Amino acid sequence: MTENKPYRVLLYYMYVPIENPEEFAALHLQFCKELGLKGRILVAAEGINGTVSGTVEQTEKYMEIMHQDERFADMVFKIDEEDEHAFKKMHVRHRPELVTLRLEDDINPNETTGKHLSPKEFYEAMQDPETVVIDARNDYEFELGHFRGAVRPDITAFRELPDWIRENKQQFEGKKILTYCTGGIRCEKFSGWLVKEGFQDVGQLHGGIVTYGKDPEVQGQLWDGQCYVFDGRISVPVNRVEHVIVGKDYFTGEPCERYVNCANPECNKQIICSEESEYKYLRGCTHECRVHPRNLYVKEHELTEEDVELRLKQIGEEFSVKNS
Ligand SMILES: [Zn+2]
Repeated sequence: MTENKPYRVLLYYMYVPIENPEEFAALHLQFCKELGLKGRILVAAEGINGTVSGTVEQTEKYMEIMHQDERFADMVFKIDEEDEHAFKKMHVRHRPELVTLRLEDDINPNETTGKHLSPKEFYEAMQDPETVVIDARNDYEFELGHFRGAVRPDITAFRELPDWIRENKQQFEGKKILTYCTGGIRCEKFSGWLVKEGFQDVGQLHGGIVTYGKDPEVQGQLWDGQCYVFDGRISVPVNRVEHVIVGKDYFTGEPCERYVNCANPECNKQIICSEESEYKYLRGCTHECRVHPRNLYVKEHELTEEDVELRLKQIGEEFSVKNS
């Protein structure tokens, strides 16, 4: 697959000690800005995690200079070819942790982590009936796409995962466990936590879903839907062999893969929603969001109160002017 697009998106992480991470973050921001990159990078004492976009030349230069730093000499960059930047700005932020697990005893993935499985190994292990595949991502990521048959922990944030596993332990006892996430960083800690928790056979998808989707042999097979990503693209394709839509329109339940943010700026909830539903429901996830005085959909489309009233009437809702 050789594409020649003018831009690239780099996704990367590395667990490696960084001294004075706050100072490092400030200098790194300057460096990225000088190169002309855009994106989001987190820096912690335990390492670095970033997604940046730039031209082919800018991203080449970035990778070259990063690889010259002995801390990052082995950094693996996952590269997507794109037509434009995937971000509007460049941020480098210092954080206490690269991923928010808030464990009582923190895990150093360089000491304790699950077995790293290549896409091929993961593909094969996944099909063993004694295997449980756990999705280590958030609910809104799972809803857009996931591995066929994967367990979706009933949680709203990654940090709730350890408690959920403890409460549902009987499901996993005596089984082989596989974990996966977007780029692999969350699984480094989560699989390490599972090992520490006493699970015997724990594997993690090395390089995450994005690497799995690019593997020339497995070609993303057994992945259904799209992969949610944390940049302007919102999602990327994974399965190159078949495309099964698992996302569902928030309002109608129809198959859909289009993510939007609720038009109420105070809500901003991400919902999967067709253009038709967006029109009907004024991109509001609840009645309150639809009639919110600052509803962005109403503003963008310059709808009058009469327009709003008419739209709402069509879905059986009332709009009283007193609301605005
Ligand atoms: Zn809302």
